[in-house]
Amino acid sequence: MIDELDRLKREGLHRTLTESSPADGEGWIVRDGRRMLNLASNHYLGLDHRLDETVLDRWRKEGGGDAEPERTIRTGSTASRLVVGGDPAVGRLERDFAAFKGTEACLVFGSGYMANVGIVSALVGRNDIVFSDRLNHASIVDGAVLSRAELVRYRHRDMDHLEALLRKADPSKRKLIVTDAVFSMDGSLAPLAALVELKERYGAMLMVDEAHSGGVFGDRGEGLARACGLTDRIDVHMGTFSKAYGCCGGYAAGDAVLVDYLVNKARSLIYTTAPPPMVVHAIRDQWSTAVAEGWRRERLLRTAAQLRSELREAGFDTGESECHIVPVIVGASDKTLAFGRRLQEEGIAAVPIRPPTVPEGTARIRLTPMATHREDDLREAVAVIRRIGVELGVIGA
Ligand code: PMP
Repeated sequence: MIDELDRLKREGLHRTLTESSPADGEGWIVRDGRRMLNLASNHYLGLDHRLDETVLDRWRKEGGGDAEPERTIRTGSTASRLVVGGDPAVGRLERDFAAFKGTEACLVFGSGYMANVGIVSALVGRNDIVFSDRLNHASIVDGAVLSRAELVRYRHRDMDHLEALLRKADPSKRKLIVTDAVFSMDGSLAPLAALVELKERYGAMLMVDEAHSGGVFGDRGEGLARACGLTDRIDVHMGTFSKAYGCCGGYAAGDAVLVDYLVNKARSLIYTTAPPPMVVHAIRDQWSTAVAEGWRRERLLRTAAQLRSELREAGFDTGESECHIVPVIVGASDKTLAFGRRLQEEGIAAVPIRPPTVPEGTARIRLTPMATHREDDLREAVAVIRRIGVELGVIGA
């Protein structure tokens, strides 16, 4: 362990934990004792997290339709969904969320990570093939590894490459194509229409991870699939409540048969304690607010476009970003670390992302604005980023 940790330190890849809490002001945090502009979270819509007496009262009244009309709110669910852990609130959330997504059914998992690992490892096995975009999230890769299926990675968003791989594959094997809808470290969008065409042509299943697009795309935040009018042609809709919805938990949505199958096969649902009812209530609240307050989606996308164009104008490489995730690609890990450190010194929380999270030689600062950031704060942040970029030779003077 010590040798390996030393190696990580030598190569600029060592990570440490930090502590952050919300600060006063929109989009600010206190991190390691210092107030900073928060450009590092996935809390895109800036929804409020606070739990006060009014919220608790409402949750109590919502109850679960059981014998106790004014219930206490349970912080734990006490068992797996398949045993006695299924509070009525979770079933109700699943029915309503399925209607919102435009699918027959939905299944809530403890986290997005657990959802991906459970879904992928349930849908494919030893004799099957998973086709995965090279930049897909680690939880998809972990699900594929756990499934023991063959894992075939296609070049990022390269549909010609994917088609060549599908054509080469044994037609008798079950095939699952998986993609992030929004790529978490690049802010690029998956070519969903082309993926649907390919999956139909080659008789594959298609799974779309809406972790970063849920709450952001679609008229009411349903996700990218809905925004593209493709809901019915995608087999598995996966997403999280942990990012735009600012809570925690993941889901799978699709046909009733899919959900029935996952209830019986997804080990990260079966062999774990169900999400606490308290969290389920919080998910419903955050989701309802996100739907009702469409200005947050509009403002987020507008702000991000402005941020991206100002950074590009300054000479930064923002890669293929086309939404609310804006990378500043630096290249070398040590320089990226120095960039992150300097930003922190100047009061900006923006985390350096290094390999293996991103491919070798593409270390970057990942910037994520929030719907609640003030324009002035962002303008000042761009000036600081620009100054540090010049100082470190990432951009010209
Ligand atoms: N999928 C993607 C694309 C993600 O970025 C993440 C989180 N980083 C997850 C799944 C896992 O979600 P959660 O944080 O809810 O476990």
